[in-house]
Amino acid sequence: MIFDALLLDRLRSANNVVFFTGAGASIESGIPTFRGGKDSFWVDFDVETFATLDGFLNNPKQVWQWYAQRRLQIQGLQPNLGHQVMARWQAKASKVTVITQNIDNLHQRAGSQAVLELHGNIAQYKCVRHHPVTTSVDLTVSEPPLCPQCGTLIRPNVVWFHEALPASTLNLAEIASFESDVFVSIGCSMDVQPAASLPYLASQCGAYVLQINPESTDLDEYAHCNLRGKSGEVMPKLWEAVWGECL
Ligand code: NAD
Repeated sequence: MIFDALLLDRLRSANNVVFFTGAGASIESGIPTFRGGKDSFWVDFDVETFATLDGFLNNPKQVWQWYAQRRLQIQGLQPNLGHQVMARWQAKASKVTVITQNIDNLHQRAGSQAVLELHGNIAQYKCVRHHPVTTSVDLTVSEPPLCPQCGTLIRPNVVWFHEALPASTLNLAEIASFESDVFVSIGCSMDVQPAASLPYLASQCGAYVLQINPESTDLDEYAHCNLRGKSGEVMPKLWEAVWGECL
């Protein structure tokens, strides 16, 4: 794979790098997208049942158990080479921020430290009134326990449909985007708003925007460089080309 000289130069000289990831960044770890087909990890995923507050309130036990199962499955999977390269980049730039739409915790497990989770984290919990769960609650039970603070049901700390993104996290993501020198979008379809507006914000504020995705997206025409390929394959090659080191 041959990389553009300007791309390599911008990556080498960038002090402030943002990696912005979507479901595509975790596919090579074994977590497909929601549109992954009939054998998908998210098989039987019905949005209204499993990804809305009403779905949860209508059938708390079923939804609770479904997320417990997904969480266990994810725990058994490993970060891929793409996640590892993003974590290693911390040794090369003074500031590296990962902004992710994924809920799988794989960036943290790869070693990334500044991770902004726009859609929450499947391994964390809060109650329906958004009180975070303390360690004193037994979460291994088969039905959602009650919040010790307000008595409402405890639920996974993920952003469901019709819910707003956590405002403070979105705000930090916007700041990181407009402060970035290089903004790398990886495995994002660019269909999910407001997250999809971040690359444009970065670009308007002077960042060099790189997109890594095997498919084309709406970002293609705005990105300074588009690398067509899989994150776990392109990222190690890019690392080698930029830093002259193997992973
Ligand atoms: P999406 O809208 O984020 O699209 C996935 C993108 O990844 C597509 O553009 C596809 O071309 C690209 N892609 C496919 N293989 C790739 C690879 N190997 N490397 C790089 N890019 C690749 O997917 P979605 O499933 O509709 O997700 C919508 C939202 O659902 C996400 O933003 C996320 O919040 C959530 N989700 C999370 C996970 C997870 O935590 N791992 C998985 C599925 C969905």
